[in-house]
Amino acid sequence: MADDLAFQCQCSAVQGKLRNASRGANTRFTCYCDDCQVFAHHLGHAALLDPNGGTDACHASTSQLEIHQGTDHLATLKVANRPLRPVLRWYCRTCSTPLFNTYDNAKLALFGLILANTAPQQRDSLLGPSRGVIWRQIATGDLSARKDANIAAILIRLVGRQISARFSGDWRGCPLFDQVSGASIVVPLQLSTDERTASQAAITSRAF
Ligand SMILES: [Zn+2]
Ligand SMILES: [Zn+2]
Repeated sequence: MADDLAFQCQCSAVQGKLRNASRGANTRFTCYCDDCQVFAHHLGHAALLDPNGGTDACHASTSQLEIHQGTDHLATLKVANRPLRPVLRWYCRTCSTPLFNTYDNAKLALFGLILANTAPQQRDSLLGPSRGVIWRQIATGDLSARKDANIAAILIRLVGRQISARFSGDWRGCPLFDQVSGASIVVPLQLSTDERTASQAAITSRAF
């Protein structure tokens, strides 16, 4: 459909789309958090970050995700050890392209699509420009020309999607999780402290 936003990894093993992508349904933003940067560096895909270390991403309903091929090529990784914020970062295990972010349980219904794997013209026309930046304090270089995203608005929309998915049962439609148990379809890997340290060292500017 015209409103579908196609994505694929760099080796084309994983291909799919975000159904009915739009400015109204999705929230596009640029994230400079250290976890997003560590994820890209660890996988050898720092070139997918913008010059300041940002990840162009959008939040979506989990039921918008459709994977056409390559589910068996997916792997997932926890780059941080935060029990209260258990984010899974999904990638293609063949070419290591970073693809999605979710929580580690389908019922929590968070889905973030990394937009570097989509066609620029299509993502711009469907999603509009980035609504702004988050975690600018961890960015590299000068971001003064970029506006801040409205984090409260992002969170309100995120929680709204989560509540809707939980009560409608739409969380079961996410192809990254078992429909019955809600567990991820592959066992998550955990980035070791040494691996994290090595990737952090590759990020030239940090603020902790
Ligand atoms: Zn691939
Ligand atoms: Zn981030």
